[in-house]
Amino acid sequence: HSPLQTKLLQMHQKACEIYVHMLKHTQVGQPALSYLQSRALDESLMDTFQIGFAPNERNFLFKVFTNDGYTFEEMLASGLFVQYGDNQLMDRFYQRIMFPIRNEQGKVIAFSGRFLPQANQVEDKEQPKYLNSPEGLLFNKRDVLFNLDLARSSIRKSEEVYLFEGFMDVISAYKAGITNGVASMGTSLTDQQLHMISRLAKEVIIAYDGDSAGQNATFRAIELFEEKTRLKIAIVSLPEKLDPDEYIKKYGKEAFYQLAVHGREGVFPFLMRYRKQNRHLGNEREQLAYVQELLMDLTRVDSVIEQDRYLNQLAVEFNISRDALQSQFMQQRRLNQ
Ligand code: ATP
Ligand code: MN
Ligand code: MN
Ligand code: MN
Repeated sequence: HSPLQTKLLQMHQKACEIYVHMLKHTQVGQPALSYLQSRALDESLMDTFQIGFAPNERNFLFKVFTNDGYTFEEMLASGLFVQYGDNQLMDRFYQRIMFPIRNEQGKVIAFSGRFLPQANQVEDKEQPKYLNSPEGLLFNKRDVLFNLDLARSSIRKSEEVYLFEGFMDVISAYKAGITNGVASMGTSLTDQQLHMISRLAKEVIIAYDGDSAGQNATFRAIELFEEKTRLKIAIVSLPEKLDPDEYIKKYGKEAFYQLAVHGREGVFPFLMRYRKQNRHLGNEREQLAYVQELLMDLTRVDSVIEQDRYLNQLAVEFNISRDALQSQFMQQRRLNQ
């Protein structure tokens, strides 16, 4: 680390402690605390993930850091402040629940702040739901997976990693006993993230949100893992467009654990469902196009036994003779080679 980086790490550690203090021990943190409790986050989870609160003031952290003797340049480089006017700074994060983002060594290098909905307001279109630190000397989004430091040992032990969309999904899954979870924080996976995952695990279990954005992201993630890694891939498909956190809230931790551990599916069954979207399978042409696409997908399945099972399923579902399906598949496979 350069001397500036060391200083920036200190600043993040300090900010993290102050935000935690504001959440847990002050009057202004009370609504945030109630909100988190209403989302079924208990004290020990808040401690584990060092969750905090940035109060609704634009010079709260600024005053603390000025008092600590940090310079304008250091404060600006930290990303914790935004510049206005010629050389003025104000807090970047205010009225937000603060999720520290840690590097692989467990040091806080950035924050993501979740806007705190207020009682008298349904939603605020002006405010993004999550606000992240900008990239800088400590934080390069492409190199970070949320929670990798805490999850590392259980990833190593199980040789499996769960991949979630969001912070709350990782945290709720942790509560449900799935401690080998990380989050890509809403963006598409970078080469660096794929590399970090494949270095530690043999299998990745994609547990993105059940809504259509999450399903599309799952499809893209599968393509990336297949193209760039040798990891085994499984999918946790959540019903009713729920995300993992919402599923746990609705059906409980045990139900989620069962689904995530014993109810996960392979890539092909996911694709069978995914490729049905926006297709009118009552129409014969669309039905054939759908089957053709799946035969392409089937060439990516390694196991002959699995191929056999899926060919049977397709034959039954679309009332196609098993022989016809089989020879079409063989032809497809030759074309691919
Ligand atoms: P919550 O449960 O707190 O409402 P979520 O995690 O379910 O949030 P999603 O909309 O599913 O929210 O987004 C998934 C993840 O994508 C978030 O956890 C966050 O990391 C990232 N994200 C979402 N919205 C934004 C945004 N406006 N800016 C930056 N990142 C975002
Ligand atoms: Mn989502
Ligand atoms: Mn979500
Ligand atoms: Mn959510």
